[in-house]
Amino acid sequence: MTADRIDLDAHQLADLRVIVDGRVSTNESVLDQHGHDESAFPPSRPSAVVMVNSTEEVSRVLAYCNTEQIPVVPFGAGTSLEGHVVPIFGGVSLDLTNMNRILEIRPDDLLVRVQAGVTRMALNEKLSTYGIFFSVDPGADATLGGMAATGAAGTTTVRYGSMRENVMALTAVLADGTVIRTGRETRKLSAGYDLTRLLVGSEGTLAVITELSLRLFGIPEKMGAAVVRFPTLHDGVAAASAVVRSGVPIARCEFLDALSIRNINAHDHLSLSESPTLFFEFHGSPESVMEDGRVVQEILSEFHGTEFEWANDEGARRKLWQARHNSHFAAAAAHPGKKGVSTDMAVPPSKLAAAVAMVDATLSKQPFPYTILGHVADGNFHSQLMADISKPEELVAIRKLVHEMTLKIIEMGGTCTGEHGIGAGKIDLLVAETGGEAVQVMRGIKASMDPNGILNPGKIFRN
Ligand SMILES: Cc1cc2nc3c(=O)[nH]c(=O)nc-3n(C[C@H](O)[C@H](O)[C@H](O)COP(=O)(O)OP(=O)(O)OC[C@H]3O[C@@H](n4cnc5c(N)ncnc54)[C@H](O)[C@@H]3O)c2cc1C
Repeated sequence: MTADRIDLDAHQLADLRVIVDGRVSTNESVLDQHGHDESAFPPSRPSAVVMVNSTEEVSRVLAYCNTEQIPVVPFGAGTSLEGHVVPIFGGVSLDLTNMNRILEIRPDDLLVRVQAGVTRMALNEKLSTYGIFFSVDPGADATLGGMAATGAAGTTTVRYGSMRENVMALTAVLADGTVIRTGRETRKLSAGYDLTRLLVGSEGTLAVITELSLRLFGIPEKMGAAVVRFPTLHDGVAAASAVVRSGVPIARCEFLDALSIRNINAHDHLSLSESPTLFFEFHGSPESVMEDGRVVQEILSEFHGTEFEWANDEGARRKLWQARHNSHFAAAAAHPGKKGVSTDMAVPPSKLAAAVAMVDATLSKQPFPYTILGHVADGNFHSQLMADISKPEELVAIRKLVHEMTLKIIEMGGTCTGEHGIGAGKIDLLVAETGGEAVQVMRGIKASMDPNGILNPGKIFRN
């Protein structure tokens, strides 16, 4: 494929309309909606949006686009954070949100089979009547296809794992329209190359995922949340690492700096003390939740953690996590007209306190407002810098700063992205992290699965 923008001609639009029964849009607001994600990346419209209803339709659309060398960017909920869904080269935005059927619920196997456009909240609403749930929680109401494609994780990963651990099998369509099935619905599997985990995190560059078999868990008898305050950022982060080392089975452990707390207080009408804070959640029986909380409280006190406060009733617990998940929007609301640029660094647990300290020291010397928060029990944390998107030079300066900080994280043995993925934003950092040779192997895989380079071009690698 050439590196020019591709706009579909009338003939191609007509052909696609025949394949999907007319569900092709060139309406300006629909194109705009599919031209951006939740990041500060400059938007770029697709030439057309194609709504698909089935694996067969995806297969026929891809076979057609492959022959015509039209770029195709799969689109789920558009909540990704590295320009993933931006159709840099035009072409088709392939919208999977119509594929929103829950195909099979098997409580005895703790398994569900869904189409790729089902969102995690819709799934959990349905599953709750069976006393089971799907655990991966990135906060945003993303589609399960999009979550698999980005290798999503979130607040519960410390206990239940990320998409990498919870996707058991996939149906996917290759660039030429070939339909493949990967994995099995078994707890163990040792059959050949692990294509499921190759597709998880492939960001729409290797195949379009159309169906997923997902692992489920029983809803715990009791879920108790708690907050605890610390005098310094360092104390809070070091305390989280100590809790993880202790082996207490925490279900969530999230760090928020004082400014994040101020932002969510204003956004979600809370009145939490504005200090560095850890949010915890414990799952189990009522007795085990209280006991886990007691042991954690003891550990935290060694790191000057004070004001340990339970949010035990269901309403208070939900409100707390809703506020945590709104922190991205709370920061934006605190800075009208600005947009957040989020980092996604992860380091080995022993390096976490030093990594957060390095980021805080660097950011405290620059002019842009910032917050630091994250899934510290997994060694994964985000800083969010607020940029005035009407001033491109601000974005350039922030991206340079983020790049330099992330190189230091890589030197510490960490990664440029724990969960958001590479998208268009971390292409150079992927090379710095894995080395050019490993990226060449990735390019080889891409070339064998998508020889014409039609699937989400300009993401993970530069064309
Ligand atoms: C407030 C907020 C908080 C967030 N917190 C987290 C977090 O804690 N953890 C985390 O991991 N992420 C987080 N994210 C990022 C985002 O929610 C995830 O990346 C999510 O997995 C994206 O899913 P989506 O359906 O929106 O995918 P989209 O944004 O639509 O697509 C993401 C990528 O996947 C590809 N894709 C989509 N569907 C398919 C498919 N069916 N087959 C193949 N490729 C496909 C797209 O082409 C694109 O490259 C957050 C985002 C926001 C806005």
